[in-house]
Amino acid sequence: ASELRTNSYCFYNEEMNSKAYERISLENALRTALTKGEFVLFYQPKILSETDTISGVEVLIRWRNEERGLVPPGEFIPVVEENGMIIEIGEWVLRTACKQVKTWLDQGFEISLSVNVSSRQFYENCFVSRIEGILLETQFPASLLTIEITESIAMKDINHAISCLEQLKGLNVQISIDDFGTGYSSLSYLNQLPLSELKIDRSFIENLANNGNGAIIDMILALGRTLNLNVVAEGVETIEQKLYLKERNCREMQGFLFSKPIPINELEILLKSFDRK
Ligand code: C2E
Ligand code: CA
Ligand code: CA
Ligand code: CA
Repeated sequence: ASELRTNSYCFYNEEMNSKAYERISLENALRTALTKGEFVLFYQPKILSETDTISGVEVLIRWRNEERGLVPPGEFIPVVEENGMIIEIGEWVLRTACKQVKTWLDQGFEISLSVNVSSRQFYENCFVSRIEGILLETQFPASLLTIEITESIAMKDINHAISCLEQLKGLNVQISIDDFGTGYSSLSYLNQLPLSELKIDRSFIENLANNGNGAIIDMILALGRTLNLNVVAEGVETIEQKLYLKERNCREMQGFLFSKPIPINELEILLKSFDRK
């Protein structure tokens, strides 16, 4: 019995070591990823329910690494959020996406751009001035830029959030609450934030497909109407889900039913094909 205990102790220790090692090598690889140009931006269209046309795109980062392949954001955003590299990476995402989408605006496509922002980015002191600087530098129209933050980001320091969002609103930048319904935001605070959009979390849309009811979706749509906010449903995968949302006047949808997040060249083809319809 004592031998068994010793063995399991050793095993535990080795596992700890290899986890720590993995983490260090991940952070090291991430440290050079920006300068090596390993980050790539994918875009997922937002569809207007009424006309089935593309109203905008959400930019989603991926990391293309020689050894690791195409790494999804869920595997590295938490790491760079913790070690602070998200500030630089976030700025790169914003600048690059503004530049890319601006080239389509210049070709006459009227589309908006949604960018995800993490907690550390949002609470950094110069967040608003960074955005202002990038808008100026890229000549991207502020009214076509939407910043997506989650409820928990907004609620972390509500007074700071209100003042920051007011400044963004002053620039004419739009604010969206991502994953809406999964956080803890009090409805009274919601009214104090200068929001333009709510994004219904994918879990509620998924629930519809599993014969769940749409009570929460209906509630969010009603809330959106009351507060005069645009409502977007994310994670729409089936025609049934689309019809449910369309019947209830959900203004915009996003999901695999319309398109997965795609690289920029494919988006260009998609934009042009939609335009010809
Ligand atoms: P999110 O902002 O909630 O993005 C939606 C996620 O759902 C994306 O995953 C997207 O690929 C996926 N998705 C879209 N439609 C469907 C669908 O119909 N079905 C299913 N099953 N999934 C769908 P992705 O790209 O892996 O991103 C995961 C998360 O990583 C994002 O969640 C966002 O929180 C974060 N993220 C991505 N890019 C950035 C970035 O540039 N900056 C920051 N701070 N976070 C980012
Ligand atoms: Ca998002
Ligand atoms: Ca989301
Ligand atoms: Ca999410």
